[in-house]
Amino acid sequence: MAYQAPAALAALTQQLATLPGVGAKAAQRLAFHLLAAPPEKSRMLAQALLDSAEQIHPCPVCGNFTDRELCPICEDSGRQRQLLCVVEQVSDLISMERVSGCPGLYHVLGGVISPLDGIGPEKLNIASLLRRVEEGDFREIIMATNPTVEGEATAQYLAKKLRRDGLKITRLAHGLPVGGTLSYVDEATLELAMSGRREL
Ligand SMILES: [Zn+2]
Repeated sequence: MAYQAPAALAALTQQLATLPGVGAKAAQRLAFHLLAAPPEKSRMLAQALLDSAEQIHPCPVCGNFTDRELCPICEDSGRQRQLLCVVEQVSDLISMERVSGCPGLYHVLGGVISPLDGIGPEKLNIASLLRRVEEGDFREIIMATNPTVEGEATAQYLAKKLRRDGLKITRLAHGLPVGGTLSYVDEATLELAMSGRREL
């Protein structure tokens, strides 16, 4: 008879393998690592998973993750409320914050428009962005989507939708590697891109 792993081990490996970037081999390695560690380690990991699933949700205003009603950036009264920085993912927001890139507020799209992948504007946080800009008092919107084909196209699409008198729409400038993502850009490059942004 073929070897069968104990049910709990098989289930653990199977769950780990559903995570992005974790293949069958890596899932097995992680499972064995956890089994070899004191049970306390698994308990803490399980608790952290449960806590984040139960306590963390997207900020209803900007899409950042939060465990309160609004996220700390939306609640921060020291922020420039006339400046809005549009990013693809929360990880991009975190990159921007690490270099104190945007003294204003953020809007997290949750991705980019990509017709080939079946992602239209309706699948992203775009309706909420248009409403927010309509109702708000913004003077500048920075399109900080990634310098990929889809990121550029999404920035252009949004610029067209948002354009109005008295509102400046800008794009992060030179220095960003084409095809790269903000999350992996070094801090100096990101700061330079921010300071040299151009109008769309
Ligand atoms: Zn927020």
